[in-house]
This record gives sequence, structure tokens and C-alpha cells, in this order.
Amino acid sequence: MFQNHPSFDRHKLVTARHDQASGLSAIIAVHDDSRGPAIGGCRISPYPTFDAALNDVLRLSRGMTYKTAIADIPYGGGKAVIIADPRQDKTPALLEAMGDFVESLDGAYITSFDSGTTLDDVRTIETRTRFAAGTLPEAGDASQSTAEGVFACMRAAADLALGRPTLQGSRVAVQGVGNVGARLVRLLADAGAQIWLADTDEDHARRVAEATGATLCGIGEIHRIDADIFSPNALGAVLNERSIAELKARVVVGGANNQLATPDDDLGLRAAGITYCPDFLANAGGIVNLHYQRSTWSPARLGTHIEGLAETFREIYETARRSASGMGAIANAIAEDRIRAAGGQR
Ligand code: NAD
Repeated sequence: MFQNHPSFDRHKLVTARHDQASGLSAIIAVHDDSRGPAIGGCRISPYPTFDAALNDVLRLSRGMTYKTAIADIPYGGGKAVIIADPRQDKTPALLEAMGDFVESLDGAYITSFDSGTTLDDVRTIETRTRFAAGTLPEAGDASQSTAEGVFACMRAAADLALGRPTLQGSRVAVQGVGNVGARLVRLLADAGAQIWLADTDEDHARRVAEATGATLCGIGEIHRIDADIFSPNALGAVLNERSIAELKARVVVGGANNQLATPDDDLGLRAAGITYCPDFLANAGGIVNLHYQRSTWSPARLGTHIEGLAETFREIYETARRSASGMGAIANAIAEDRIRAAGGQR
């Protein structure tokens, strides 16, 4: 049944569990485990159908395979989804049942937080499984590492594409100021960038703007600001034929997942003269943080590894200069080489 799904991509394992007592209805997908056990967050969302949840978990777990490979950490790609409304249905019993489900796979999948789940939720899940990550107290919130990875890649992109070795005075438009975006805005403000920001939660956006000296902007306008850099940190599919034509920024680097509406938009960005940092590279800092939480916690090694994401960006940029490929396609090829080197077939 899973094998016929359009988003099925030779996933290693796809398994669903329904538990009447707790109300759990969940799917876990392991996409590829040739580089190590599959890791990826657990998303809770009121999917309208089981098929919608299946589609999401298949796509997200595949994305994690590429993210763990491009970040060069010893993990494969996995993801879990729970079909529930996180505001109403998220009971301890539901999360404990999810912990039992994760534990039943005996380490094939390691879970963490995602949209709809918090660190506290992962702590509850962790009461029932050895295979949860992200709760080491001294590690703080992994979103900080995600923001630092975006910032590091942005600095490299501004240097290479705009000839600006620092972000001092650079004009940056930030879409979405949640966990990642707000932290990124603080890093940008500290670096002396000139910032515009927008969020559907206007009160929150205003608070972030007031705290950082950024300029508040409408959600329909943010991608059209006359900025040097556009940073999507909210939704997927923000880079499409229409938005690319409207972009004034010459560089795009952000934390949002699945920024390209279609694979063709990778080449569309290139044709428009826009330097795009592949999203799964820019936002890999969080998963790198989880890796160090699960091995030996070391802020210094984590920092070096996050700076390494920017080095990978430089490598992709140089390859793009010598070829006709899009930045996303080059990043995919690097990830696939690493998966094949570990015996995987991608
Ligand atoms: P979040 O929910 O905390 O923040 C998203 C913000 O975007 C919210 O404040 C929301 O109000 C806002 N938003 C929604 N629609 C918008 C729109 N149309 N225009 C402007 N703002 C809008 O989520 P997050 O944890 O900050 O994650 C942001 C993105 O980064 C997501 O795509 C997520 O999958 C990805 N990501 C996050 C992490 C992490 O460490 N948190 C890691 C990797 C990838």
C-alpha cells in the first residue's frame, strides 16, 4: 500500500500504529539508514486524511536523509507524524503511547520535536523510549543552532555572491520570526545588518522588531523588499515562479523546509541571478546539535560543525560557477555521493 504512494521513494520502513486507549494514530517512516539510524522530529498535526499524513511523513523523512548527509552526521533520515490537533489532543497518554511506538522499533528511528511538539513533549515521550533526542539541559534549544547555521551560510553567501565579507550594513528581509527567525534576527542585529521582518502573528512580530531595531513589514511584502538577502523562515514552497520574479534580493538563505515549490525553481533562481542556499543545508544546525547531544556534548565542536555548513555552501557555490546546475541539485548530488559511499543506493 505504501509502495504505490507517489511520495514513496524506496523507504526502508513505513509503519503505522493506532491505539484506541490513548487516541494515538501515528506513522513512522525510515527513509534511508545507510549512514546510521534514522533521526527526525515528530510532527503533530490535524491532517484531514491518513493519506495526507502519509504523504507528509514520506516527504519529510526523505528530506532528513539528505539533511543528515549534507550535514555529515552519522544518521539516516526518518520522521514521525501523529494525526491529532496539538492544541486539544496532546495528552500525556498520547505522547507516552508514541514513546512506546518509537521504542518498539528498537533504535531504527530516533525521535525529537517538530511542529506541534515541544521539548516538554519530547521529555514525556522519553519516559517510554531510549530513542529520543534534544532534551539535554545544557544544550538549550536546538533552534538556536538552526539559526546559527542559517547565519553562517548567509555570511558565506554575502561574501561570495555580494562581495560583502561581513553582514554589517547588509539589508536582510526575514519572513517568519518564530523559533528560528527570531533568533536569526537577533544574530543579524548583533552583526549590524539592516533588517525588515514579517510574521502572521503581528503582535509577536512587533515585539521582535522593537527589541532588535528591525522594521516591521506586511506578510505580502516581505519577499519584495529591496533587500540584499531574503530569508524564509516560515513556510515551504515560498520560492515559486511568481515570487522569484518579484524578488529583489540577490541572495536567499533561510531556515524554512522545502522552500522550492518545484525542483525547476532551483534553475529558475539561477536564471534570475539569485544565489540560493539549499534549505536542507542552511537549516541543518538543529540536527547537528542533536547529534552532539547524543554523542559527546561539546559547544566548541558544535560551533565548528555549524561553521562547516558554510564551508559546504562555499563548495556548492564554486561547483555552480563551473556548471549549469542549480545550487539545490548540486547539494543533492553531494548528499547522494555520501549515501552511496556508505553503501546506500540513492
Ligand atoms: P515556528 O512555528 O516557531 O515559526 C514560524 C513562524 O512563521 C511563526 O511565528 C508563524 O506565525 C510565522 N508564519 C506563518 N506563516 C507565515 C507567513 N505566511 N508569513 C510570515 N510568517 C508566517 O517554526 P520554527 O521552529 O521557527 O521553524 C520555521 C521553519 O524552519 C519551518 O519550516 C521549520 O520546518 C524549519 N526548521 C526549523 C528548525 C528548528 O530548529 N526549529 C530546524 C529545521 C527546519
